[in-house]
Order: sequence, then C-alpha cells, then structure tokens
Amino acid sequence: MVDRLPPVRVRFAPSPTGRTHLGSGRTALYNYLLARQTGGQFLLRIEDTDQKRYVPEAEQELIESLNWLGLQWDEGPDVGGPYGPYRQSERKEIYLEYAKQLVEKDKAYYCFCTPERLARLREQQMHNKQPTMYDGLCRQLTLEDALRRVRQGEPHVIRFKTPKEGSITVRDYLRGEITVENRTIDDYILVKSDGWALYHLAAMVDDQLMRITHVLRSSEWLSTFPLHAHIIRAFGWQEPLFVHLSVFLKPSGKGKMSKRESAQLLQDGYSIFIKDLEQLGYLPEAVVNWIALMGWSYDDKTEFFTMQDLIEKFSLDHLNPSPAAINFTKFDHFNGLHIRHLAIEDLAKRVKPFFVKAGLKVEDQKLIQIAPIIQERLVTLDDAVEMAGFFFREELEYEPSLLIGKNMSATQSLKALQECERLLSSLDFTEKETIETALRSLAEHMGLKAGQLFGILRIAVTGQSVSPPLIESMVILGKATVMERVQIALKRLAEVVQESSA
Ligand code: GLU
Repeated sequence: MVDRLPPVRVRFAPSPTGRTHLGSGRTALYNYLLARQTGGQFLLRIEDTDQKRYVPEAEQELIESLNWLGLQWDEGPDVGGPYGPYRQSERKEIYLEYAKQLVEKDKAYYCFCTPERLARLREQQMHNKQPTMYDGLCRQLTLEDALRRVRQGEPHVIRFKTPKEGSITVRDYLRGEITVENRTIDDYILVKSDGWALYHLAAMVDDQLMRITHVLRSSEWLSTFPLHAHIIRAFGWQEPLFVHLSVFLKPSGKGKMSKRESAQLLQDGYSIFIKDLEQLGYLPEAVVNWIALMGWSYDDKTEFFTMQDLIEKFSLDHLNPSPAAINFTKFDHFNGLHIRHLAIEDLAKRVKPFFVKAGLKVEDQKLIQIAPIIQERLVTLDDAVEMAGFFFREELEYEPSLLIGKNMSATQSLKALQECERLLSSLDFTEKETIETALRSLAEHMGLKAGQLFGILRIAVTGQSVSPPLIESMVILGKATVMERVQIALKRLAEVVQESSA
C-alpha cells in the first residue's frame, strides 16, 4: 500500500528546442502519476524564453507525444487555468518585476560588463587554471549609479548576488542533503541584456506563482540546484519538494545516447523519440509501462502495469536515483505483453493503419477474424503486415521452388498439391477441424508427414514459410481465394517440374 500524499500541484516544463525523447516522457509521466494519485493537478508549462532555440515543430511534437502517451494536463497553454499564462514567453514582464525585487533586496545587481570583458576574463581564468566565473566587478556599484546607467540605456544584465561566505544545504528527496560552499556558486545571470529571464529565475518564479508543491525534474539540474534554492530563499518563499530523476544511458550503459547513435538505432527498428515509437508499432501502454520502470519499481517482481495500476502504485519512495540504461529488449517484451492484453477489436483497430501504410486494402471484419490468430505472435504492431499481409494481397509473390516439400522431389510435391486441390474442392470451408482431419488423412494416405503437406500448402496459400495457423488462415481467406491460390501454385510448380526435367 502506498502512503498517499495530500493533493500535489506538479508541472512538466519542457523547453521546445528539439525532439521529445523517452527521458522527457518519463518526467512527464511521473508528474502525471503523482497528480492523479493524489487528486492534485498536473500542469504543462512551456519554457520558451530562449527565443533563439525555440522550434515550433518541437512544441507540436511534444504535444502529440504527451497526448499519445495519454498524459493529459489540467492546466496549460491550450487549456488555460487559474495561474496562467503557462507559456513563459508570455510572462516576460513578470520575471523582470521579480528580478527587480531581488535587486531592491540587494540579492541581485545590474551588471554592465561587456561580452569582450567577460571573454577576456574567462580566458585569463582558464589560463590560470581557475574556475571560470564572473569576478563580481559590478557587485560594487551603488544601486543609484547602476540605475542611472540603466536609465541612460547602457546594455546590462541582472545577476544573482550569491553570498560569498559560508555554504548552503539543499535537500533532494532521493539523495538527501547536499551542501556546497557558496564561493563555488557563480553570480548567475537572471535576466539577459535583451530583457528575457533565464531558467534559473523564470522557473523559480513560476513554480512559486503556480503553487507548485513538488518539482520532479531531470538530474541535469542538480548542479544548479543550490543556486535555485538561494533564489527561492532570497525571495523568502517556501521551497517545493525537489526530486531529481535519474538519467537515461544508452543500452550499453556507457554514457548518454548521441545524435549519431539515435539515427543508427532507427535502422534497427528502435528509437528514443516517442513519436517514432508510434510509427514503429509500439503501444503507448507499453512505452508507459517500460519508462515507468526505468527509475522506479514496485516490488522488484511485478512488471506488468497499466496506467491505472501505476496511478495506484507509484510512489516517490521507490524511485531510484541511479542512472538507468535503456533496454530495448525489455521494451519489446513489454510491447508483446500489452498487445496480448488488448481486446480483439482494439487490436484490429490498432494494426489497421500499418496495413494501410503498406498499401493494402483491408476489411475491418476480416481484421477482427485475423487478430486472434496473430495476437500471440506479435512483438510490434507492424509485424502484423509481415505476418498477415497475405490475407489482403491480390497476388502472392514467392520463389516457386519453395513449393517443393521437405525431403521431396518437385514431381512428388506437384502430385501432393494436386491431391490437395482435389480434396479441398470437395470440402466446405466452415469447419477448421474437417479440413484438418481430411488433410491429415490425405498425407497419411500418400505416405507423407502432415508437416510436409502443410508446408507445400502454406506456401501456396500464404506465400510464406512461416505464417499464422494454416487451417485457420484458410477458413478466414475463404474457399474461393484458397482454391485460386492453390491453382496458381499448381501452375508454378508444374513449371518447376518441367524445368528440372528439361
Ligand atoms: N525547461 C527545462 C528543461 O526542459 C525544465 C526543467 C524543469 O523541469 O524545471 O530542461
């Protein structure tokens, strides 16, 4: 049983600068689960103050990915809410106002150092093997002087006035207390010269104004976490609970996935981008199950979770701060599990787009008949096309020599197929047992193993040496199609016989 928290207010706060990957999906998921479990709210906040890096398609992809995973937010740019706007680019003035408050409290200051001076400073520090930090030159300016220069239009930024003495202790829910010396923390820029706030200020202000109680975010923010705590405390605000989630490593466990490796991955039918997974035939249920378990576990043995299970069972206490290697073999396993969990009509509906994409004309009714005989075998939804495309193809393409049965000659195979044709034309195709018994006794009669006869017939009817159960497939295809395909196979096989005797 999970100890329930009181209703939380949590947020997913992506910067739409690139594609939406598994890591973002998982951050969003954990936030969502916590909100649903406690009857709280899940917010979507678009952090787009970095105008240079903003990519409109990235935002589109993000929304589609979250929708596909089923992570609906309660407040956000599109649905609104009482603490909006939820898009940071619409909150520029708010951040500026709060930055000025910090200046008035002597917790921040205007800095007029030119990019050239800063570059020189940096070079010098690197040369002297010192940490590269702002040297605090403008800290000494009086507010009066600074404001005069601001009024005169001199380019400036606003920096945080990090205390130079002592240390700060912050608390991450998974890692406990972390103490750092203040002198190691830079006087970070809060507002750039173009008037736009940076993450460090904008996110802290928003979390406060949006009444966020728990911040579940990527552990890439651990290094600036002390700065964030300083900012929050400078305002005199209460800190939300911070939970820095584990990072994802590439499958080998060695380092993070690079761009080049992600491209390579796609060739193997995998991807770290949520949108691609949909195209590759994965179920959102499987993605959710899989990423939920990358960094969280329930009891070390339960592995199958629906969204509802996760909402009930998720708990911050079972989060694991260690990096998690992405394991695609596991993912395939989960996808299979969730495919087998689907109702037949649902499965039929989900495989349909893959047949359509392959250029096949499918009938829904037939798909519903096919779904049960492929359900056990599918790893991804698109496997259905390879497995069951023959149901919808006008013509089957296969190498005619495949019609030669195992350990049989072409002539023997032809004879067997002729007998099959005669037998099948006398049967009606309503009962699979009747067909099966008849074919088995035919094989026996001809001194063949049932497998030999079925092998020939399988190629003739499906064009594949591996297929869903043959007799069931024949019943679904219907007598007319089966007979037609057998006749075509007979012709092809006759040609093979001819060629081999020529
Ligand atoms: N915009 C930040 C990012 O995408 C959000 C971090 C956070 O959750 O606070 O990394």
